[in-house]
Amino acid sequence: MAKIDPWASAAVSDYEHVFKQFGLSEFPENWRSKMGHRFFSRGIIVAHRDFGKVLSRIESKKPFINITGIASSGQFHLGHKADIDLFVLFKSLGAKNYFCVCDIDGYVSRPDKKIRSLAYAQKFAIDNAADALALGVGAKDIKVQSNRERRYYSFAFELSKKITKNMFEAIYGHLDLGKVSANLLQYADILHGQLDEFDGKMPSITGIGLDQDPHARLTRDIAKRLSYPLEVPSFIYFRHQSGLKEGSKMSASQPDTAIFLNDSESELDRKVSNAFTGGRNTLEEQRRLGGNPGVCKVHELLLFHLEDGKEVQRIWDECREGKWLCSECKQYTKDFLKDMLKKHQAKAKKKRKIAEKIVKGN
Ligand code: SF4
Repeated sequence: MAKIDPWASAAVSDYEHVFKQFGLSEFPENWRSKMGHRFFSRGIIVAHRDFGKVLSRIESKKPFINITGIASSGQFHLGHKADIDLFVLFKSLGAKNYFCVCDIDGYVSRPDKKIRSLAYAQKFAIDNAADALALGVGAKDIKVQSNRERRYYSFAFELSKKITKNMFEAIYGHLDLGKVSANLLQYADILHGQLDEFDGKMPSITGIGLDQDPHARLTRDIAKRLSYPLEVPSFIYFRHQSGLKEGSKMSASQPDTAIFLNDSESELDRKVSNAFTGGRNTLEEQRRLGGNPGVCKVHELLLFHLEDGKEVQRIWDECREGKWLCSECKQYTKDFLKDMLKKHQAKAKKKRKIAEKIVKGN
């Protein structure tokens, strides 16, 4: 029986099997065009649980809760940028926004050799908040776990009564107390916006990777068993942006698999130069047979982040026709990413003071 581990760095590859086993619904084609964003039109969003409730709120211009959370355990990379781009899309569609900067989670669910103290996680929280602000998240949308209202914490503790040791072990396969604590906060992050003290009962949406589905299942289950009147939260699922090496996901704990938002030009050059491609063994074969963009990490960078869909399609087609050499294509991708990161880094630098204020709470 397949297990999906939210803390692992291997990519989920067998989507159909996972859909079937855990009862996920494939994202319907007719909803893709309604969303009008590259993540939907390019098949990057692959599945959902109850997204119809949120879509009907969007179509009837009624509010819904938009909530995401990222553990403060390192610098943001392009995989995080995809999460944030999705969050900003829902914000633009009229949502009530909760962008959770999870510094407590970052500390308690990681080993000390990685995150040695809460203060250390908070340094990442400041960088992460500056990146989020630069990508379009509003200052008021950011909620820092260590700096929340009393009601948020009391709610997180209330949730513990709805989970037994056996449930936790059945879903996650272990009982690590740091991860148990971090999970209570995650469930609270997703559900607390529906309490009367916040925005009240309404549908909510969270975009996650397939490997995060155990959290989604348990959160939905808890929502059904609480004494509060809550909508069961909805989720949409990303096809993971895979790592630059073969078979990995983009992971902060394996720096060479990821392009970080604060990478220098030379780091970016090196990482894209070493990325796994769908290129052939020889130049002659590449010209004659064409490449395989479907397995190529360089094309995937463009698929996720280049807004011009026609350009992404053109490169796909021309790769298959043997019109591109991988060296040329890598150079094109480096130029695009250098420009994108340079602009982002300039914006994030300007947002740093406000990010510091948000995280430190003064
Ligand atoms: Fe990938 Fe580009 Fe090479 Fe095609 S030409 S395999 S898209 S790097």
